[in-house]
Amino acid sequence: MERVILIKYGELTTKKGNRNYFVIQLYKSILNKLAGFNVKIFKDLSRMYIEFDEKDLDDILNRVNKIFGIHEYLVAYKVKTDNEVIKENVLEIVKKEKFETFKVDTKRSYKEFPINSQDYSRQIGGLILKNIENIKVDVHNPELMVNIEIRKDYTYIYTNYYYGLGGYPNNTLGKGMLMLSGGIDSPVAAYLAIKRGVHIEALYFEAIPHTSINARNKVIELCKKLSVYTSSIKLHIVPFTEIQEAIYKTADEDYIITIMRRMMYRITERMAKRRKCLAIVNGESIGQVASQTLTSMKVINNVTNYPVIRPVACLDKLEIMEIARKIETYDISILPYEDCCTVFVPKHPVINPRLDLCEEMEIRFNYQELIDKALKNIKTITISEQDKSEFEDLL
Ligand code: ATP
Ligand code: MG
Repeated sequence: MERVILIKYGELTTKKGNRNYFVIQLYKSILNKLAGFNVKIFKDLSRMYIEFDEKDLDDILNRVNKIFGIHEYLVAYKVKTDNEVIKENVLEIVKKEKFETFKVDTKRSYKEFPINSQDYSRQIGGLILKNIENIKVDVHNPELMVNIEIRKDYTYIYTNYYYGLGGYPNNTLGKGMLMLSGGIDSPVAAYLAIKRGVHIEALYFEAIPHTSINARNKVIELCKKLSVYTSSIKLHIVPFTEIQEAIYKTADEDYIITIMRRMMYRITERMAKRRKCLAIVNGESIGQVASQTLTSMKVINNVTNYPVIRPVACLDKLEIMEIARKIETYDISILPYEDCCTVFVPKHPVINPRLDLCEEMEIRFNYQELIDKALKNIKTITISEQDKSEFEDLL
């Protein structure tokens, strides 16, 4: 008996006018993620069907469960739409299962099939009862659901299904410039933005020699983990040392972080424009540190008019950590390499910074010139799941 993977779209179906576009994007992302497998993929407006080699099933399902835009997926037996053939196969399938109660559910989208859904469920239920001992029907809480979907040429029979990741297919809602540090929060923010169909490019500020090449490798590894959920990720590495040293020399100590973050935002906005991103995405979480009080966020945000998406803004650290573990970024994030934010940390960072004071301190050095220079010297690499981690030639 031939089996196929059946993919059901979830939230996509609410996008009436755009549905076809979303379906095509999902199709492309499935094609992309299953490249290398011998598969054939067919789509219609409500389903996709994947024909596969039985030996690859586990590996394929392992990929399918990491693709955004899939609401449910399942492995179905595919048989000819013919009453006798369906009956024979249903029995064979059900005999393989262990259960005491069951229910049959038929969906007949091929209306020329001569028996309606309800009657057919009843007929098949009767057939199962007649052929298997010690079982009964339970319509409310059955142990085994026998699903039969009757379509024009083929009928799909399945007993089990899995929830997909939900969300929107990759790249359906524009591009965002992600501020990616080596910490726990920003990879989780990235994952949640990708889930909403936002394609991500990442920006990492590094301050060599104050930060090490290990810190950069960590960010590269994080991109690899994130690329599992999207296609490849472009990582822009910004040389931030000069700016950071200038801030350190000129700003009042308690304002160092606030000003540093304003500089980061300025650079991120410039890169977002250059790369045609519609938003900035970062891992800020309200109240987590001094620079993430609402007052701080307002003063820092003041340097840009770009929308700033903060997917983890309202999550607790424990909630963020739980997602980080699920997407396997946690173990990388906790590696103890210094980030540029931690190297220059003042003893008492200001919790309620004043905008006028920031502006006054910033003109103590020619930050525009340093920002232009940093932007000119950005190095970009494209990272995907399979890449090796050596990018040392960038040094
Ligand atoms: P942690 O999980 O330890 O809090 P973090 O990455 O969230 O790490 P924060 O100091 O809280 O670090 O920074 C807030 C946000 O600012 C980050 O989530 C990230 O989006 C951005 N950010 C911080 N440092 C950098 C950096 N070196 N490069 C790019 N973005 C950064
Ligand atoms: Mg944080």
